[in-house]
Amino acid sequence: MASILTTRGLVKAFGGFRAVDGVDLDVAEGSVHALVGPNGAGKTTLFHLLTGFHRPTSGAIDVAGRDITGLPPDRVARLGLARSFQITNLFAKLTAREHVELALAARTSIGWRFWRSDKALRRFSPRALELLDEVGLAGLADTTSDALAYGRRRALELALALALEPRVLLLDEPTAGMGAEDVDRTVELIARVREGRTVVLVEHNMNVVGSLADTVTVLKHGQVLAEGPYAEIRRDPRVVAAYLGD
Ligand code: ADP
Repeated sequence: MASILTTRGLVKAFGGFRAVDGVDLDVAEGSVHALVGPNGAGKTTLFHLLTGFHRPTSGAIDVAGRDITGLPPDRVARLGLARSFQITNLFAKLTAREHVELALAARTSIGWRFWRSDKALRRFSPRALELLDEVGLAGLADTTSDALAYGRRRALELALALALEPRVLLLDEPTAGMGAEDVDRTVELIARVREGRTVVLVEHNMNVVGSLADTVTVLKHGQVLAEGPYAEIRRDPRVVAAYLGD
């Protein structure tokens, strides 16, 4: 299948230390692609490179044939790489629906100028309600975000990312800090929203990776240690050794 996101020779050095050290990634369109690896492997740094939060020291990042290397996060998001989870910058007193309306407005020409104008925002209500329905929040559309439970707030953050209609949805540890019930619900949610989309997922929980990922890239010391379907990866002796700390 065609790659929608590729990196070539991607390096991020902090001083003399290469946290990401020559990573080639090929994310197939329509797939869920997980980035895993032991602590310190470079997952977060690679994720930050993809979102434009870090500038690469060298190498290239390409989305749908377009070179996005070195672009800032807002441009990267507009060009189709949207991230969700661990954002937590929701406005306490806005409702779930208002949050999604604002996200929809932000990607159109009306932009943020009208963010106080209820009338301008109302035209986004039907789509906002569709997105809330997709993430299981239809019944909570008029609830303010400070009244939403943790797992629900994260679902709302997912709806905000989907509002950008990303070419690739980037999920940074979507189940971090969740109890078993919320983890199960989040896996179901991602399984639903992945339909017709491409997802890159950084995730510690291997059960989550096994449930969702088509392809797994295992990082170690900033380099790709192994790559393939989860069933192969979990049996790979190099991967097992990496997780056991060699
Ligand atoms: P992971 O997410 O896989 O646990 P990280 O990408 O957070 O790994 O970190 C990889 C390595 O890079 C670690 O050794 C970490 O200490 C180092 N590192 C990450 N960010 C910085 C930074 N801003 N400055 C210096 N070193 C960093």
